[in-house]
Formats: sequence, C-alpha cells, structure tokens
Amino acid sequence: HRDRKLILHIIKFENRRQILVTHDITESERIDMMRRDFIANASHELRTPLTVINGFLEINAMQPDLDSKIRAGHIKLMTEQGQRMQGLVEDMLTLTRLESVDFPVRPERVNMTQLLESVVSEMHGLSVGKHELIFINEGPDVMGSFDELRSAFGNLVSNAVRYTPVGGTITISWTNSDAGPKFMVKDSGIGISSEHISRLTERFYRVDKSRSRETQGTGLGLAIVKHVALRHKAQLTIESTSGVGSAFSIQFPMPVSIA
Ligand code: ADP
Repeated sequence: HRDRKLILHIIKFENRRQILVTHDITESERIDMMRRDFIANASHELRTPLTVINGFLEINAMQPDLDSKIRAGHIKLMTEQGQRMQGLVEDMLTLTRLESVDFPVRPERVNMTQLLESVVSEMHGLSVGKHELIFINEGPDVMGSFDELRSAFGNLVSNAVRYTPVGGTITISWTNSDAGPKFMVKDSGIGISSEHISRLTERFYRVDKSRSRETQGTGLGLAIVKHVALRHKAQLTIESTSGVGSAFSIQFPMPVSIA
C-alpha cells in the first residue's frame, strides 16, 4: 500500500542480524474504519425506533376498531420514538458540521451571562424538585460561537441531570483564573469507573446503553462537546469516581478572554 507506514525492527536471532518488518494501519485506513463504524452504529440506533413505529403502525392498520385508549397509548409511544430519531439525526448533523474543516468557528463576542442563564433555565425544566442546583457565574465573556458553546454546555448539564439520582447536587460554574476561563459541571451522580473515561467522547460510546436510552441519550453528546472544545482551543477534562460523582470541565485559553 502506497502510504502504509512501515516499521523496521532490527533483531538479533542466533547471533545473526535480521530485519523484522511490521506495519501500522495508515491514517486513511483508520478514518475509513471510523466511518464504517459510525454508519453501522447510526443505522443500528435508528433501526430500533423505526421497528417500534412500524410495528405499531401495522397493528393499527390491521385493527381499525382498536380501543381509543390503546390507540392513544400507541401514538404516545410512536411519538417518543419519533422524537428519539429526530434527536439522533440532529446530533449527527451537528457532529458532521463541527468536524467539517469548511466551517471553522466565526468568533463573535459571546454574552456568557445570557448563555449560562439559558442553560440553567433549561436545566430547571429538566430537574426541578429532583436535584439541588448551585450556580456560580464569575467568569468573563469570551470570543467564540454562542450556538456551539450553548450546545456543549447544555450537553454537559443535561448529562449531569440524567446521571444523577433524585436528591443529588449539581454545581454549574463559570470561573476565571490565571489559566483562563473555565466552565465546570459537577454532579453527585452515578459516576464513571476509570476504564471508561478515556473512551467517553467516542461517538456512541456509553457505559450503560439502556440507561442512556431511557433518559433520551443519543450517545453523541460528549463527542459534540469534545469537538466544540477543540474548535475553541479549549481543553475538556473528565474526572469521575464510580458511585460518587463526576466533574466535566472545559478550560479556555487566556487569549479567548476579552473581558
Ligand atoms: P448519552 O447520550 O448516552 O448520555 P454522551 O456522549 O453524552 O451520550 O455520554 C456518553 C456516556 O458517558 C453516557 O452514556 C454515560 O454512560 C456517560 N456519562 C456522561 N455524562 C455522565 C455523568 N455526568 N455521570 C455519569 N456518566 C456520564
């Protein structure tokens, strides 16, 4: 293969020098593999809700006199599955756009107070009465994309809500230090054991698939967060202890700060 990376090891065997040739997969092969995985995963994720919807449609087509309460139940389930598919397709489109080199961030001054308040008010809607919420807003405005940062912060907050049992505490903070501004979401939720942490930002990687689906997860949230951070030259850090809680933070570089 033209651009296959060759690795030559010179080894000594029975006092004769020999050359052992191995190869590494090339970048293009790796990208190809990732693309295939993505298509396989995405098709699988879409197939499950589609099967549910088609099943109920079939029942209703075959039984036109179905009890109206039962029919209403079917419609509710089909609506939920339809929403799940829509969320998935939207997250896939977002990821594709974020990964595209043709669409770099067009930096604008991001009003952080407005952004954080919209994230926090959405969170109130999701978790009202279930969690104690602490909100700290001490950081400056930054240059970046309002929509992308809104989506990244929103994903982290919605994860904290979804993976923290009732009665837990969630702290959202926007602070500043010599290193630059930092966004952090800390929860007292289920936590993540260490062997999973390095893989969490892979598309469709989930620690517990059924819990993720039950709570409307697409498995793409952290992949989106990682790309938004990269596009803003910021650093995503994940700290977590299983059964204790997690902290996800995005550290922005100093020059981004304009306040
Ligand atoms: P999902 O839609 O499944 O939540 P994400 O990409 O947002 O997808 O997250 C990937 C996985 O990381 C989740 O399925 C979950 O297992 C784990 N995870 C993310 N955030 C948290 C959190 N705050 N606490 C515990 N586990 C989390």
